[in-house]
Amino acid sequence: MRALICGAGIAGLTLAWHLERMGWQVEVVERAPALRDGGYMIDFYGPGYEVAERMGLAPRLLEARYPVNELGYVDRVGRRTSRLVMPESFNRVVSLLRTDLVRAVHDGVRAPVTYGTSVAGIEQDGEGVTVELTDGTRREVDLLVGADGAHSQVRKLAFGAESGFVRYLGHRVAAYVIDDEALSRKIGTRYQMLTVPGRMAGAYALRGDRLALLFLCREPDPTLPEDPAAWLRHTYGDLGWILPEALSRCPDPAEIYCDQVTQIDMEHWSTGRVALLGDACQAVSLFAGHGASMAMAGAWVLADELATAGAARVPDALAAYQRRVRPAVEEVQAFGRRFIQWMAPSSGLRIAARDWMLRLASLPGADRLFLNSLTAGGHGLIVTRAGGGLRG
Ligand SMILES: Cc1cc2nc3c(=O)[nH]c(=O)nc-3n(C[C@H](O)[C@H](O)[C@H](O)COP(=O)(O)OP(=O)(O)OC[C@H]3O[C@@H](n4cnc5c(N)ncnc54)[C@H](O)[C@@H]3O)c2cc1C
Repeated sequence: MRALICGAGIAGLTLAWHLERMGWQVEVVERAPALRDGGYMIDFYGPGYEVAERMGLAPRLLEARYPVNELGYVDRVGRRTSRLVMPESFNRVVSLLRTDLVRAVHDGVRAPVTYGTSVAGIEQDGEGVTVELTDGTRREVDLLVGADGAHSQVRKLAFGAESGFVRYLGHRVAAYVIDDEALSRKIGTRYQMLTVPGRMAGAYALRGDRLALLFLCREPDPTLPEDPAAWLRHTYGDLGWILPEALSRCPDPAEIYCDQVTQIDMEHWSTGRVALLGDACQAVSLFAGHGASMAMAGAWVLADELATAGAARVPDALAAYQRRVRPAVEEVQAFGRRFIQWMAPSSGLRIAARDWMLRLASLPGADRLFLNSLTAGGHGLIVTRAGGGLRG
């Protein structure tokens, strides 16, 4: 069996990892010129972490993780306004760079990854899919998977324009990593954030005297700025704290992650032998905080259903995969929408309420309860209720 996977992210590479171990002939195409460094920090746990453990990746992820001892809010002069010390019991959350997770999966994949390439055209009949690539070559495969993120090209070709599936959550996000010993030491292993109504900036120190920065802004217009660095300086330059220095070190636009905050909501995740995977069909947004975990779990379930159904019944396997994953995704997406006001409060009153909650949560015994309330539940189901086809 032959599969072409578009997108060498968490979802695409996890699927490649499993399919090749099932004896499939797999090829991956990726639009970016190479696997990239930097990016943004993610909290990785839940069903995706369970899958990573089964793939034997846990030791590597624990090595790549960053200790986050505290979540804290500061004011414009850097004074702490509220904080939550992370309890020991919460150590199943692995905080790491998205890139480090991608690289960990990538290093276990033997299938060729062709960079700087995407899908240009798709034709299918009951027997297979003919895929035209942007380099002008063609592939005949039994399965094409679009794991190419929230702005998926495979989705556009197979299902239609993004506007039919996107739910814009009214915010813009940006992130970048800088080398700065002094700022990195100043922030340390506390995730520090500054919020004013409609705007949030966060910082966390990385190994090697680097600093990861995250910006979140309420923005009714989904159009992205042409120059994200100029937009960041204009929007956050007056907020004080470490921001004037951090913004003066803004890298080239190509090194800045800048996007709309969206969810993807689709009734059908596959058509014939073309399937979508990860953010391409189930983006939950950074407000839900489970996207990487859900992407990895989705890849496992898809491989499991393909192993169970066998070669002759690929479309049935794709439908079964959606039936298993989609209810959990809807649950996490609903959680993400509820979480917007917590992460990006729209008024001074809401910021004061959040600080008050954090003080309450710091009382003995309340910390764990509080952190659990910030976690969408129920999605463990999708990897434990295995179809039985995939081992491990
Ligand atoms: C700021 C931020 C914070 C987040 N925090 C968390 C968190 O704490 N926990 C968590 O679990 N999740 C978090 N997420 C979500 C998580 O990063 C995503 O859900 C996850 O990366 C989805 O994986 P994916 O493989 O489906 O897509 P992606 O990671 O988007 O990967 C898609 C891949 O496809 C490639 N690609 C794109 N277009 C094409 C094309 N046309 N042709 C070929 N290749 C293409 C891309 O270059 C990329 O390599 C966060 C997201 C953001 C933005």
